Amino acid sequence: MGPAAATARPRVRVRGDGVLRSITTIGADAVPQSDLTAPLRLVTVIRPYDWGSVSALPELFGTEPTGEPQAELWMGAHPGAPSLAGGVPLNELIARDPVAALGERTAARFGAALPYLLKVLAIERPLSLQVHPTAEQARAGYAAETARGIPLDDFARTYKDASHKPEMVCAVTPFHGLCGFRDPAATADLLDGLGVPGLAPWIATLRGAEPARAVREVFAAMLDDAARPLRAEIERALLDRHDGDQAVYGDIARAYPGDPGIAAALLLNHVSLRPGEALYLGAGVPHAYLGGIGVEIMANSDNVLRCGLTSKHVDVPELMRVVDFAPSEPFLVEPAHEGAYAYRPPAAEFGLTRYELTGEEAAVLPGGVPQIVLCVEGEGRLGDELTLRPGQSAFVPAAVPSMLLSGKGTIYRAQPGDFTM
Ligand SMILES: [Zn+2]
Repeated sequence: MGPAAATARPRVRVRGDGVLRSITTIGADAVPQSDLTAPLRLVTVIRPYDWGSVSALPELFGTEPTGEPQAELWMGAHPGAPSLAGGVPLNELIARDPVAALGERTAARFGAALPYLLKVLAIERPLSLQVHPTAEQARAGYAAETARGIPLDDFARTYKDASHKPEMVCAVTPFHGLCGFRDPAATADLLDGLGVPGLAPWIATLRGAEPARAVREVFAAMLDDAARPLRAEIERALLDRHDGDQAVYGDIARAYPGDPGIAAALLLNHVSLRPGEALYLGAGVPHAYLGGIGVEIMANSDNVLRCGLTSKHVDVPELMRVVDFAPSEPFLVEPAHEGAYAYRPPAAEFGLTRYELTGEEAAVLPGGVPQIVLCVEGEGRLGDELTLRPGQSAFVPAAVPSMLLSGKGTIYRAQPGDFTM
C-alpha cells in the first residue's frame, strides 16, 4: 500500500482501564499487525450524548466520573466509532481478513462487516421518540438520499446506511421506556384524565375508529403544526403529574419543554424491565428509552427516524411512512436458561448470552463465529490469556477455536443470530 492509499487513522487517548475517552482523526501512520487466532482486547468509545448519566457508568465500572454525560459505550465495527483491536479499528481489521475474523458463513451472509453493534446505555433522561426502517425501506431510502446528493454527514440526512436496525435491550438495572402503540381505548382514557377539553375530538377518534386508523389519525394530528396550541395545553397539564400512570409522561414534559414528541409519547405503551429482562424492537415499532442502564445489541446500522424528544434531525413525513400503526404489546425476549441465559431475538444479525459466573465452573464459548465478550460486573477470563474487568470487552475472531470463559461476575457475549432458517 503506497502512502496515497493509506487511510486516516484515529488517535486515541486511553485510560488505564482500556476505555477510550476521546477520538480525533489524524494522518496515516504505521498499521500494527493483529493476530486473529487469539481474543483481542477492545479499546472502546463512550459517546457523551446529553441524555446520558454523568455517574451511572463510572459507578458500574468503578471509574472516575469525567463531569460529562457518559451515554453509550460502543463495542463493534461501526465506521462512526469503531472499537480498536490490537491498535486497529475493528472494521479495518475485519475487512483485511473477513473469513478469519467473521467465519465463512457470517462473511458469506453479511459481507466483510460485523453484522451487529453492542452498546451499554446509561440513560439519565428520555431518548428521542424514534422508529427504525425495514431492510427494504432502508435500501430505498439510502439510495434515494444518495441520488439526491445529500452527504452522509449532513444534519438533514436520514438514512446513514442501507441496513435495517432491529435492536434488543437487556436491563442491567431497572430500565424503562415507551414501546409500541397502546390499545387506543386505553389511550383515550389516559387523554381523558388530562382534563384538557380540546382533546375531545381525538378521544372520540381513538374510541370510535378502527385501531390502526385511529392511532394514525391522532398521531399525525398531534405532530401537525396546527396542533401547537393544543400541545401546549397537554404539556401544561403534564408538568405537575408526578405520580400514577401519567408520571412518566410528566417526566418527559419536564425534560423536553415545547417538544412536539410530548403529546405523541402519550400514545405509546410504558414498559418496565427488571434486571435480566430484554425487550426486542423490530422495524416500524415506535419507541423511546426513558431511564436505566442496559446492554443493547442491534444490527450494525445507524438508521433512526425521529419525531421528537431530541435536538437531532427530525423527519416526520418519512417516519409516518415507516411507522407501523397497529397497536402492539412490548415484545419481551424470554432467555433460554442453559447454564447461561441465551437471548434469541428474531434477528439474523445478533444473539446475546448472559453469564452469571460463580467462580466454580467455566463456560465453553463456541468457535467459528465473531464474538464480543463484555464484563459488566466482577471479572471474566478468556482462556488463560485475557482478563476482563467491568466495562472491558474483547473481540473473539471466528478463527479462534472454542475456548473457556471463567471467573466470577456478569458477562455478556454477542454473536450473530441464527440465520440458517
Ligand atoms: Zn431504537
